[in-house]
Amino acid sequence: MAKFLLFVAVIAVIVMLVRASNRRSKTPPAAPKPEAMTQCAHCGVHFPRSEALSQDGRDYCCEDHRRLGSRP
Ligand SMILES: [Zn+2]
Repeated sequence: MAKFLLFVAVIAVIVMLVRASNRRSKTPPAAPKPEAMTQCAHCGVHFPRSEALSQDGRDYCCEDHRRLGSRP
């Protein structure tokens, strides 16, 4: 029984070492780059700035809202 526990302990140490070395060599899974968000001046929805339609310094989520303009 003691030998079995020792065997398990050795395996656990090996697994930990392998994981530690993997962590060092591999770069962590690339998290999606946090994209700048903006808010539609008409409906207030938040969406990526890259999808924004801009007019007069305001951002809109779609062509319709750009046309309708900002709500007072
Ligand atoms: Zn909108």
